[in-house]
Amino acid sequence: MTPDPIQRLTAELAKLPGIGEKTAQRLAFHILRSKPGYARDLAAAIVDVTEKVRLCSVCCTLTEGDPCATCSDDRRDDRIVCVVENVPDLLAVERTREFRGRYHVLHGALSPLDGIGPDQLRVKELVRRLGTPPEGRERVEEVIVATNPDVEGEATALYLTRLLKPLGVRVTRIAQGVPMGGDLEYADQVTLARALAGRREI
Ligand code: ZN
Repeated sequence: MTPDPIQRLTAELAKLPGIGEKTAQRLAFHILRSKPGYARDLAAAIVDVTEKVRLCSVCCTLTEGDPCATCSDDRRDDRIVCVVENVPDLLAVERTREFRGRYHVLHGALSPLDGIGPDQLRVKELVRRLGTPPEGRERVEEVIVATNPDVEGEATALYLTRLLKPLGVRVTRIAQGVPMGGDLEYADQVTLARALAGRREI
C-alpha cells in the first residue's frame, strides 16, 4: 500500500488527458524523488497558469497581458484574420512564418452531439471584432478559416462562412490536400479529392 499523499497525487495526475493510472504513479514517484524545490516550483507554476492566464479581449487567445502580444504587434496586418479552433493551432500557423495577419481563437469547433453550439465558442467576439475594429486598427477584409479538416471543423467553417459573408468580409478556407512526404497511393479518397479541387497553377 502506498502512503496517502502519493495516492492523492497519483489520483490528481491521472485526471490529466492522456495520463493513465500507471503513468500517473510514475510521475508521482518522479516528483517525490526530484531535487528539493522542484515540487514547490511545479505547484507554483500550476497555480500561476490558472490565476494569471486569461483570454485576450481581442482575439481570445490565452495571454498574461491584455491585449496579447500578437494583437499588440503593430507590424501585423489588421485586414486579415486567421480563425483557429485552439491555441496550439495558432502556434502551428505561427511556426510556418508565412502568416503576418491577426488571429482569432474559437476555443473549439461546432459539435451538436457534444452540446457545442456557436454560443459555446468565441464566435460573438469574432463578429464584434469585424463590426467594430479595436481602437486604432484597420477593418478586417478577409477571414481565413483554419479549422481542422474533420467533421466538426468543416461544420464550423460552413457556419462561419454563412455568418460572416453577409457582413461584407471575404471568407476563405485553408487548402487541404496530400501531406508533405505523403504518398498518393495511400491518401484517402476525401483528401485526394480535396487536393484535386484545391489545385493551383505552378
Ligand atoms: Zn489577442
